[in-house]
Amino acid sequence: MSAMSERDFEGRVALVTGGSRGIGRAVCVRLARAGAAIALNYITNHEAARETQALIAAEGARCALFPADVANPEAVETMVRAAEQALGPVDLLVANAGIFEILPHEAMTFAHWRRIMAVNLDGTYLPVMAVKDGMIQRGDGRIVCLSSIAALRARDQAIAYAAAKGAVIAFARSCAEAFAPQIRINCVAPGLIDTEMGRAVGDKLVQTLIEATPLQRIGRPGEIAELVCFLLSDRASYTTGQTIVASGGRVTLP
Ligand code: NDP
Repeated sequence: MSAMSERDFEGRVALVTGGSRGIGRAVCVRLARAGAAIALNYITNHEAARETQALIAAEGARCALFPADVANPEAVETMVRAAEQALGPVDLLVANAGIFEILPHEAMTFAHWRRIMAVNLDGTYLPVMAVKDGMIQRGDGRIVCLSSIAALRARDQAIAYAAAKGAVIAFARSCAEAFAPQIRINCVAPGLIDTEMGRAVGDKLVQTLIEATPLQRIGRPGEIAELVCFLLSDRASYTTGQTIVASGGRVTLP
């Protein structure tokens, strides 16, 4: 990366949901390195959140922690107002928090469907809606939502997750048109990434998926963070409403 782009987010405030671990942690650290102050959301893992906070501090950036359930409207509203109080208006949002569960259709319940939809879809809708008016008033905002290649191919063992991640893409596409020209909003759709969620599919399936991946390996959280930060930056200034796949070539668009 060129020296010119190293401090892309100097003076900016970024809200990252699910920032305590995995892809969210890598995004927080990458944004901090580029000069952003970080409002770090997570739900229960205080220890992981504090570890990420220390990594952000090591980059010389400010960070405040906001434990809150992204599926809870009041909690999200309170979190966004508290983040603004602590750090200033939110310029950048990464709607990253998510949950995944392998479940054959025979075992699916409505409660499972609701929970997966609540965290992955409501948990994208709520933070976006809580920050968009301020961004539009200030005339500038950038948002990236985490979808998945599960949105683009059949997932017989993850029907609810695939539906939620597909809806995230459709949501972002429509928001891009609705919030233009002040806000750019895009999605990233990762393939298998080396996080607790990625590893939860089990060693055997990880191996099978790697064999089905042209680049022949699992992705690193930092590789997704790089793409997220590119889309947030001025370097992607003519890109909105898009979904970018990063899956080692396992799924290709269009
Ligand atoms: P991890 O399971 O490693 O981390 C999940 C993060 O989300 C944690 O910070 C967790 O907080 C937070 N979180 C979970 N539920 C909530 C909630 N209700 N409210 C607030 N925060 C919550 O996930 P990844 O880093 O792997 O995934 C990040 C995103 O990328 C997700 O949207 C996922 O669906 C997507 N993705 C991941 C892929 C992969 O292979 N890893 C592939 C494709 C997409 P806490 O630490 O407190 O539990």
